[in-house]
Amino acid sequence: MRPPARASEQLFIRSAAIVVAAGSGERLGAGRPKAFVPLAGRPLVAWSLDAIASAGVPRAIVAVPPGHGPAAEEALAAAGGDFPGGFVLVEGGETRSASVRNALAAAGADVEAVAVHDAARPMVPAELFVATLEALAEADAAIAAARMTDTIKEAGDDHVVVRTHDRSRLWAIQTPQAFRADVLRRALDVAPEVLAQATDDAWLVERAGGTVRVVESSPANFKVTTPHDLALAERLLC
Ligand code: C5P
Repeated sequence: MRPPARASEQLFIRSAAIVVAAGSGERLGAGRPKAFVPLAGRPLVAWSLDAIASAGVPRAIVAVPPGHGPAAEEALAAAGGDFPGGFVLVEGGETRSASVRNALAAAGADVEAVAVHDAARPMVPAELFVATLEALAEADAAIAAARMTDTIKEAGDDHVVVRTHDRSRLWAIQTPQAFRADVLRRALDVAPEVLAQATDDAWLVERAGGTVRVVESSPANFKVTTPHDLALAERLLC
């Protein structure tokens, strides 16, 4: 008889990735949504979808900017075939967390774990999806994070430093962020003002009293925000 599958393997089999790609990308100044800006010959979002498919996550839901359905479908046509559990496009919301909520609603009731990922992080390695989803065996949420290498100081509006933080305990938070699906559903069921405050989804779980673990990642999984970031990603991928 086969030994019983570990809890994390069960979660992985019933997992889905949510890729939030509905931002305008104004800071990039490319004149189109950031997720569809070409990077090394492919739309930016396609790099993340490749990593998710390589990790073996069975299902993917992508939140795209409202009104960009046909462009999104064209850009993502090639990626859809790599997800045996389905590949779905949904309209994003006004805020990042609203986009996550729309995507989660389309995930299906059988999904037990979700890995939320920013389309804006094309350098993500496939292993990070596996590592964050597996870490859910011991937490409500498990989030990719890089150790801080810079010293972090806090300053007032007058630019006067008020505090220097203990760097050894600080982490720069990235995505993917993996969640037990029921925990994320409950955490996202809050007023729009609260959703608008969330710069990451794990904060919503923290404020609801959930256990959030960090999974060590590399600073190489950076977020493409400015033209400089895009040029750097292009150099690294070519
Ligand atoms: O704006 P920022 O770079 O923090 O966005 C992070 C990610 O969230 C991006 O991949 C962006 O496309 C996504 N996003 C979204 N819906 C919004 C705002 C941002 O899907 N309303």
